[in-house]
Amino acid sequence: MTNRRLCVVGTAAAAFCTALVLAMLLAPAAATRPLDELSELVAPMLAATACVVAGRRKGGRARTAWYLIAAGAAARGAGQGAWCWLDLVLHQGNPFPSIADAGFAAAVPLLLAGLLTMPFWPAGPAAKLRVVSDGLLVAGGILLLSWHTVLTPVLASPVDSALSQGLSLAYPIGDVIVVTVLAMMWSRASSSSRTPILLITAGALLIAVSDTGSAYAHARGSFGSGNLVDIGWVAGHLVLGLAALCAFGRREGPRQVLPPTPLSAVVPYLPLPVVIALAVREWLSDGVISPFTLLIGLALFVLVLLRQGLAVRENVRLVRLLASNESELSHRAEHDPLTDLNNRGSFIHLVDEWLSDPASDRICAVMFVDLDDFKHINDSLGHAMGDEAIVAVGERLRSCMRSHDLVARLGGDEFAVFLTRLPNVNQLVTIAERLIETLNEPFQSADMHASVCGTIGIAIAEPGDDAAELLRRADIAMYAAKARGKGMFGIFEPSMHVAMYAPLERRADLERAVEAGEFALHFQPVVDVPTRAIVGVEALIRWEHPLLGMVGPLDFIDDLEKAALMIRVGAWVLNEACGQAVRLRGITGDDLFVSVNVSSSQMLDSGFVAVVSDALAGSGLPAEALVVELTESVSVGESEVVGLRLCQLRSMGVRVAIDDFGSGYSSFTYLRRLRVDILKIDKSFMDDLLAGGSGAALVEGMIGLGNSLGLLTIGEGVEEGAQHAALVRLGCSMAQGYLHARPMPMDQIAERCLVRTPAAAEIAAAR
Ligand code: C2E
Ligand code: MG
Ligand code: MG
Repeated sequence: MTNRRLCVVGTAAAAFCTALVLAMLLAPAAATRPLDELSELVAPMLAATACVVAGRRKGGRARTAWYLIAAGAAARGAGQGAWCWLDLVLHQGNPFPSIADAGFAAAVPLLLAGLLTMPFWPAGPAAKLRVVSDGLLVAGGILLLSWHTVLTPVLASPVDSALSQGLSLAYPIGDVIVVTVLAMMWSRASSSSRTPILLITAGALLIAVSDTGSAYAHARGSFGSGNLVDIGWVAGHLVLGLAALCAFGRREGPRQVLPPTPLSAVVPYLPLPVVIALAVREWLSDGVISPFTLLIGLALFVLVLLRQGLAVRENVRLVRLLASNESELSHRAEHDPLTDLNNRGSFIHLVDEWLSDPASDRICAVMFVDLDDFKHINDSLGHAMGDEAIVAVGERLRSCMRSHDLVARLGGDEFAVFLTRLPNVNQLVTIAERLIETLNEPFQSADMHASVCGTIGIAIAEPGDDAAELLRRADIAMYAAKARGKGMFGIFEPSMHVAMYAPLERRADLERAVEAGEFALHFQPVVDVPTRAIVGVEALIRWEHPLLGMVGPLDFIDDLEKAALMIRVGAWVLNEACGQAVRLRGITGDDLFVSVNVSSSQMLDSGFVAVVSDALAGSGLPAEALVVELTESVSVGESEVVGLRLCQLRSMGVRVAIDDFGSGYSSFTYLRRLRVDILKIDKSFMDDLLAGGSGAALVEGMIGLGNSLGLLTIGEGVEEGAQHAALVRLGCSMAQGYLHARPMPMDQIAERCLVRTPAAAEIAAAR
């Protein structure tokens, strides 16, 4: 219900009550009596209707609760109906007790039942009983206090029967219990539910005022309807109806039981000092304690005992729950949820515990089990089946092992077994073979037919080992076994460590070298065959290793490729070579070219052409002065991409050479597919050149091929003068080799260029 509507309804109820009060004050009692009695009938019925409406909007316990409260209000209304019938129709006055009291008396338990059904209370009958006993304790205390302060003096001069007095007192007592329960509800309810509870409490208090007033009037013999105090019944029920209207618009959130506050834990015990104080007061003034005080005191004492008993029971239950939660939590922390095997953490912990125990002197070992190609099972059968297979593998591992062996799932498709008390190392071999055999058996289940195999690495514990070290060694042994094939096992040997870690260490070394800029370029001159004049240089990379000294490219180019550093280093080579070539050309004044070796990964890199053009632009080297050397390591299958790149380079003006031509099997395929400018005839042919046989004929054929395709030719690896002379005779364009110069730093090349051969000087002068 909206706040606006609530305001309207609240204002109407307040106006009605005010009008009633005014009528009762101003008009004679006889005239207002029917109005009073009828309004006491109408107000509870209105409240009951509102509660039913509120209940229909709710579900579960809240609905039942509102229906019970509605029943309580309706019972009150029914009682009042009987009252009106007796008084207004049968003119029997206001007999007390009468049939009407059946309805009135039923109202309080029904209201209480409704309140206790509300979803604010802790679940379980014991907890509810504790709440009720708390309510009774507080109510008992209040009752005793009011007995001593207000009621005893009045009841001292009884004018009515004991039954009617007792009954008239029962209503305020009931009200006290209701208000107590409401106060406890308020302390437990979430803030959003507090408004309806406050309104119900206000209604209950108004009713309590009327109930107390009428009990007082009874005691004094002045009871009769039409009293001003009766207004509380009307107003109280109207406010109750308002509470229902206020609650019906609210959607209940998830049930929220708030923990009791320290105050709510202490409140139930407060009546005890009150009882003791009142008893002492009676004893001191009269020398005896009245039966009523004793009775209430005893009742409160029993209630406290009951409450304590319930609290102890609850505590025992909570402690048990906590203990079972704790063991469940620690099990979860130590086990893999899928297979229920020990997890990595607990495996390491238990193995460490065993290894550190001086009593465990027998042979023990760790087996590292890795499933082969498990990814395929996940990919082809789905992850659910993959999980099923993992569980089955876990069960098989368990079944293969002795009861005292520790089996764990390290994660993914990796398992580990810790074997202890082994009689000898041979036993390990037997167990590993049995394990592989068991793992290899195909999985047959209702929805799965699959087979997995596993590879096992074994590490035998040595003195001083810990679990992490054992696992690491077993892991290395597993990788070494995997390298031999699937479904194998291997026992760790130190050589495995070297084989596995050497590449890793090399990689780290190279990464460091790239960062530290430990690479340098040497240049080998390329000479014109007829004149022996230097016409160009080939850039050749060197690694100036801080410990190993100068390292040649054949010892690290492959590692650079594997470490995915080649593209980065290759770009550096291009920039450096172009820059140094520009310097050389500046010193010599000659149009020398520079050749740069390019690996296949560079060629296949989409950014390669941009790297080349940046190097040219950055150095100012003309594109025609750059030669890109390509070896046959680029596979023919990739030649489409390479062909495209070469096309782009050649359209920029860059020339392309095929390095080590003739050394591979695909030399001629290359020539057919790729458009190039220079053939560099491999050194092996130079070696054969003077040996007689087919050597010279092959070189002649290659030079002839180059000439007929309009390509320049370079003879590589020329070491002897006779080889050079043969190249002159065969018409080779250029030559390169130790005969002319070894690879050297650029400064030395510049010096060499300036010292021209006589033939070269002649040609230079003629230009
Ligand atoms: P390559 O491109 O065929 O270079 C010629 C190699 O033969 C060089 O070896 C050179 O020192 C050597 N050489 C030259 N003349 C003679 C000779 O008369 N006798 C003998 N025995 N050898 C001679 P290097 O510098 O060790 O280079 C080896 C290979 O490394 C090169 O062969 C090239 O394929 C590669 N390489 C060198 N630098 C780079 C580079 O920056 N990037 C790439 N990707 N590869 C490079
Ligand atoms: Mg080369
Ligand atoms: Mg070569």
